[in-house]
Parts: sequence; structure tokens; C-alpha cells
Amino acid sequence: MSEERSLPPEVPSGQPDTKELVVAMIDGARVIRDAQSDTCLVVIGGVHGNEPAGMRAIVRLATLVESGDWKPTCAIFGLVGHPQAVAANARFITENLNRAFGHATVGTVEHARAEEISLWLRALKAAYRKLYVLDLHSVSVGDTRIAIVNDTPGRRALVDAVSSIPLKLLAPNGVVPGTLLGFVEEIGGAAIAIECGNHESPLGETVAMEHAERMLEHLGVLSTKRTSFIGVSYEGKSRTYALIEAIKPAVGFTWTIPISSELFVPEGTVFATDSTREHVAPTDCYLMMPSKEPLSTDYDAGFLAARV
Ligand SMILES: [Zn+2]
Repeated sequence: MSEERSLPPEVPSGQPDTKELVVAMIDGARVIRDAQSDTCLVVIGGVHGNEPAGMRAIVRLATLVESGDWKPTCAIFGLVGHPQAVAANARFITENLNRAFGHATVGTVEHARAEEISLWLRALKAAYRKLYVLDLHSVSVGDTRIAIVNDTPGRRALVDAVSSIPLKLLAPNGVVPGTLLGFVEEIGGAAIAIECGNHESPLGETVAMEHAERMLEHLGVLSTKRTSFIGVSYEGKSRTYALIEAIKPAVGFTWTIPISSELFVPEGTVFATDSTREHVAPTDCYLMMPSKEPLSTDYDAGFLAARV
């Protein structure tokens, strides 16, 4: 799909007044820096409403830029992904917003929100030539930190440049449909999703800020800064996995083994049950980002991945 064809007709070409654009188009957005630049970084937190690290990072980033502590030369926007879920302190209202891009049920809150975000990101891509998105999340089980990108050579290089998290996860096209990350790539942007640790982790905001800082430095748009977040120490050696499949829960979904991220699950192991079936490992694989209490209304209860 060409970018031109996918642009909504009401979005003007060139650089409009982006402040007006961003404020008028969508709830939960803030202008962190408006700049005449061909580069735009969008930091998104709260796509899931119970994951505060990204939203805290947006506030911190805005404070640093407004005070002149950081002097980035590109445009930067912050976006609270799902304000209604944030207000409810819930992962989602009706369905998972991070599976809703092009795949939502018409009429849900998340369908409408995914449409709004899509239009907004397309407008930013039209206004700036280079669109970068940092999508900040956290996990319910353990204090796992993961850097996630689409499985292409370009994104492998980007994530290696921008993240010192040793656990990298590649998302091949189509394995998990409807993600924000996939949507950004579809419109010609570049996206990295970061799991910043546990929802409750006091270090989550710092992990998020380290990635914002390293992204800006990688783009060559942050030569002046007084405060740095670089240097978080992460556990373990460098390792990379690729997603094999999403674990789709039905009513009554229950884990039948003690769960954690990176748990090795040998082929043939029954690792969960629900009212419709036993969930069996199709091959030797690893459990990734299992939900502590999976909802049958969620798209997935976690993922299976292979070591790359
Ligand atoms: Zn999340």
C-alpha cells in the first residue's frame, strides 16, 4: 500500500501547524517539542491502562524539554494510548487495544480509539517524513524487560542501536495481528515496543527514559542534555527470540504449569487448559509475557517463541 493512497483526504501535505493538528485531532496527546524538522518521535504510554511507566516517562520527558535540560532538535509528541482504560486502571475496556489496529470489533471503545490513533499517526507521517514510535509497556508476571521489533534486518539494527536490554523479541509479520507496532510499520514509520519491567516496578520509568534518550541520540537530534538515564543494568546475556504464536484463551483459561517469561516448554507439554481445549506446545519453545490472570476476552494470554 502506498503512503499517498492511505492518507486521509483531510490531511494537508507539507508541515501544517502541528500543535493545532495534534491538539485538535486526539485526546491524550501532548506536544513535547514542536520543530521544523523532517523527524518526529512519538512516545506512547498507556496503550494498556494498567501500565504506568510510559505515561510517567512522557511527563518526565516533557519536563526535561520544557526546562531546557534536554534540547532535542526534532519534533516530539507524547500520547496516552487508552485514556478510558487508564481512568479505569484496566488493561482494556472491551478488547485489547494493542490487537485492535485493523482488527477490532466495530462498535467497541478500542475500535474507535484505534481509528483515532491511526488517523493521527498517518497525519504525523504526512507532516514529517521520518516517524519513529516508542511504545512503552510493562508486564504482569515477573520483572521482565524486553525490546520488541518487527522481524526485518532494518529493525534488528535499530533495536540493537537503541536498546541495551539483552532480551530481544522479533515479531514476524502476521503472527500477532493488529498491534500498534505493526500499524506504524505499515504506514512507513519505525516502531520499537519496550516492556519496561513489571507494572509495579519502580525502575520502569527509568527504563522508558533510557530508551527515549537512546532513540533521540541514535537519530542525532539530542546533542545537548544535562540529565542522562543511560546505564540501567539489565540481567543476563544478549539473546533473541522470534514469536511463533499467540496463546488464545477461551473461557476458563488456566495455566497448568508455574509460569514465567522465557520458561522453556518442551514439545507436547500441556501448559494450559480452558473450556474448549488443552493448550499444547507445538514444538520446543519458550513462554513469553504470560498474563498473570488472563481474561478470556483478551486476544492472547501470552506468547510462544523460539530462540533465534
Ligand atoms: Zn502492554
